[in-house]
Amino acid sequence: MNAEIVGVGTELLLGQIANTNAQRISDTLAGIGVDVYYHTVVGDNLTRMAPAISQALSRADAVVITGGLGPTPDDITREGVALALGRRLERSPELVARVTAIFAAMGRDMPEANLQQADLPEGAVPIEPEGTAPGFMLDSKQGIVFALPGVPWEMAAMLHKTVVPELRMRAGDAATISRQVLVLGLGESLTHSKIADLVERQANPTIAYLAGMGQVRIRISAKAATEAAALSLIEPVEAEVRARLGASALPGNHATVAPALAELLRGSGATVGTAESLTGGLIGVELTALPGSSDYFAGALVCYSNDAKHAVARVPSEILDGPGAISEECAAALAEGAREVLGTTLGLSATGVAGPATQEGHPAGTIFVGAATAAATEVRALRGYGDRTNVRGFAATYAMDLGLRLLHAR
Ligand code: ATP
Ligand code: MG
Repeated sequence: MNAEIVGVGTELLLGQIANTNAQRISDTLAGIGVDVYYHTVVGDNLTRMAPAISQALSRADAVVITGGLGPTPDDITREGVALALGRRLERSPELVARVTAIFAAMGRDMPEANLQQADLPEGAVPIEPEGTAPGFMLDSKQGIVFALPGVPWEMAAMLHKTVVPELRMRAGDAATISRQVLVLGLGESLTHSKIADLVERQANPTIAYLAGMGQVRIRISAKAATEAAALSLIEPVEAEVRARLGASALPGNHATVAPALAELLRGSGATVGTAESLTGGLIGVELTALPGSSDYFAGALVCYSNDAKHAVARVPSEILDGPGAISEECAAALAEGAREVLGTTLGLSATGVAGPATQEGHPAGTIFVGAATAAATEVRALRGYGDRTNVRGFAATYAMDLGLRLLHAR
């Protein structure tokens, strides 16, 4: 079984919002073994929407549409589906009652326009609304169509309650499982050169790369009748990939280094604190984005100016006046300062030049990261590329990587 996802909304085409619904739906469908071959996006325009839906139906078994189900005149997904399938719109008495009841429950008068939300293409079955917009499902010779609201949480609720069970029933049991191997410090082409023959040889599992911010994620995906069967196809391939990449591959199944570090901290009962110049708290942001981070994260000292580095993170004046704030010495002192001030097992730091301008004679992209434990302090000099976001993300990643490696050595 395969599916196509159609995002409806001119705001998507204008770049005002990202099509996160498509990502969410794709991820969910992959989990039940439904292949998604196309993502389509079309504006709130009937003459383009109907052909887009027809095209999707011509090449997919199931079409999942999101957006354009609201009460305003630009919400025309109902018409689009009706036109694509050559059906009339009919007002559903059941939905009229439901939409009316939703407004009554909110104690608000229902604008007449909201009744258009009770219109459905002939033969469509309404999907229980989560907010105010009902969705619908329509089985036709060309394929099955699901129309879901654009609001992400309403969409997600209907996806799980209605779309997933329906497609599961039709497709039979199947699962696509992915595992990821996070590679730091090698870059994409070097990573590929070490496993190129594996990549070329594989059909199930497949191997793909996602590169960015100084890291490469290798995603290994397999499809089988059950999750366990898919996993057993992945395991030998993952083991071989890890053997080839050695220490460049982080342990665990993580998309970024923060959860890998978090897992290690939690497992060893260790704690972490940071002193961040270049990254301005970003390491703290990444670590605290994870649930349960209070178990191991003490705090972040954000010290941008030299005075703050001295006063908050206890960086000695001799370092700030000597080698300066952008130096290995300062990165080491910041990491040690974080550890002491915050009373943690591990201290992490980052200092450098985010750019675009040169600073104190150092070019943009100059990075020093530090990690300190009671036993040792380590510093790494790195070179980041791209804009400020990239340089800072790069620094945060490698500071956490340094901490991970230092803790492993502990
Ligand atoms: P409503 O009745 O709430 O208006 P709707 O079905 O008409 O629902 P839209 O008006 O198309 O939905 O979208 C509502 C909001 O949902 C948008 O403003 C946007 O924030 C979000 N949204 C819509 N489509 C997407 C999408 N593909 N990905 C992520 N968010 C989306
Ligand atoms: Mg709307």
